[in-house]
Parts: sequence; structure tokens; C-alpha cells
Amino acid sequence: MELHTTENEERLTDIGTVKSLLARHGFHFSKKLGQNFLINPSVCPRMAEACGADGRTGVLEIGPGIGVLTRELARRAARVTAIELDGRLLPILGETLATYPHAHVIHGDAMKMDLHRVIAEEFPGLRVAVCANLPYYITSPMLMNLLESRLPVENITVMVQKEAALRLCARPGTRECGAVTFAVRYYAEPEVLLPVSRGSFLPAPNVDSAVIRLTVRRKSPYPVTDEALLFRLVRAAFSQRRKALVNALSGAGWDKKTAAKILGEAGISETARAEQLTLEQFVALGNAAAESRKGKETGMENT
Ligand code: SAM
Repeated sequence: MELHTTENEERLTDIGTVKSLLARHGFHFSKKLGQNFLINPSVCPRMAEACGADGRTGVLEIGPGIGVLTRELARRAARVTAIELDGRLLPILGETLATYPHAHVIHGDAMKMDLHRVIAEEFPGLRVAVCANLPYYITSPMLMNLLESRLPVENITVMVQKEAALRLCARPGTRECGAVTFAVRYYAEPEVLLPVSRGSFLPAPNVDSAVIRLTVRRKSPYPVTDEALLFRLVRAAFSQRRKALVNALSGAGWDKKTAAKILGEAGISETARAEQLTLEQFVALGNAAAESRKGKETGMENT
């Protein structure tokens, strides 16, 4: 692929260059906003390649920082739109992205924005990917927000803390599983692509990271009667993950008899624990719960 490059461009992975750029703008890192900027030159090109950025792709980036990943994306993609919360970074981005007119920065909170509208306005006629080095404090809510709102994106390629990567991409039936693992698998096919050491960032965080890619499913892998009920059930099951399912569920709004009944109908042992179930089994359990509720006397509180 031919890359858009600019001669004499300052390298944003060079510590000296980054420090003098930040000093010139009087910028100090905010821990609260998860500001750890990538300085490992091999990571951003690999992320840009992994998300499939090319001449027919629009890429949405969350948290561009000083634009190190934004530039790599803009070298490949038809358009890049980056949402940055910290207004102090805007003049810096104005400088570092000056030679990339198809890279556009929006000032605001990505968690509070109508991303359907952003995508419709920014990327008409393009396939869309999300690529970001996510601020750690919003990793799970941001990913769930992106997935649950069913944005029209093909993949979400993001840097997250290593532990989060293991949980988000865990295989059902393993100890790393959590409620979020099932939610992610329901909407996407997750994979860990690349470990990234803490020394790859300025300032270096206390933990290592990894790049993961969630390839978004076009439709649910199994037919689900009531998604909200399914996810309520998954959360209930994992909120007491060491308990037998029949007890975990009966502690969370299902009476014991109903819990035993829906487990039986889904073909799941009462003594199984949440982390032992596959996505298909959770869906069967959710559908049994929906049927039971529809039937007559449900035995559930608050529904
Ligand atoms: N992409 C840059 C890089 O890789 O060097 C910076 C990544 S840094 C881990 C996270 C960035 O997200 C910071 O620039 C931070 O200001 C920004 N940020 C934090 N919370 C945000 C939010 N809610 N919406 C948009 N950007 C946010």
C-alpha cells in the first residue's frame, strides 16, 4: 500500500521531540484522563494495519493525544476523525496533523457523544473502523457503549491494559471470564493481537498493555428472545461467580424454584458456576427465563 507521508515530519515517537513539543505548549500529563502517550514506533503502524485502514475506510479514533496513532491512520485511511476530551491538546493536534487535511479532531467526551451521528456525518459511503489507545479509566464502558449501541463499524482495534485484554478476550469456560467477556462475545469475535510493554508509553504506566481487535458480528450468533433479560442474567450469574448457579440466580431476583426450572430447561446443571458456561448455554438460559416469564407465574421479582 502506498502511504501518505510528509517529508521532514517530526517523529512523535521520539521522546526528545515529544517532550519539547509538550513543553512548548506548556502541557502536563493528566493521570485522571489516562494520558500515556505511545512512543514505541512499531505499535501504531501495526494498529493501523490491524484495523484495515485503507482508501475506502473511515476511522474513528478515541483520544488522539498528540496524534501519534492519528497520523498512522491518516497515512492509510480515506478519513480519520478523532474525539479528544482534553482541550489543551487541540493546538498540539492542530500542529501535528497540519499536513493531514483528511484527519479531523472533535473536541468532546466520547462517552457522551452521539457516535451514530458522528459516523453518519463524518464517513458517508465509507466502511468504518474504530482504532484507539483507550484511556484506561473508560475501557469497559466505552467498549460496551460501542458494541451495545450497534454502531455500523466492522472492527474495534484498541489498546487496553493487559488484564482487561485477557478478560475481554477470554474463552468461555476459563477462569478469566467475566460478565463483560460474554457481552463482548455476543457482539463480536475478540482476539488479542499484540502485547505492548509499559515502557512503550510516556509516562510509563504501572501495567503492561495489549492490542485487541473485536470483529463486530453482523447479527447475533444465536437467536435471543430478550437481550436485556439475557444480560441481566449474565450479570447476576457473575455477581456471585463462586456460587452454584441456582444459588447465584436465586440471590438476584429469581426464586429458587424458577432458577432450578430454567436451568433444567436450558440443560444446565444447578451446581454449575457462571464461568463454566458457554455463550450458547447462557443464551439458552436467557431464552428459558424469557419463556418462563412469558408463561404465567414467573417467580421473578421486579419484572
Ligand atoms: N492516542 C494517543 C497515544 O496513543 O499516544 C493518546 C492515548 S492516551 C492513553 C488517551 C487519550 O484519551 C488522552 O489523550 C486523553 O486526553 C483522551 N481522553 C480521555 N478521556 C476521554 C474521553 N472521555 N473522550 C475522549 N478522549 C478522552
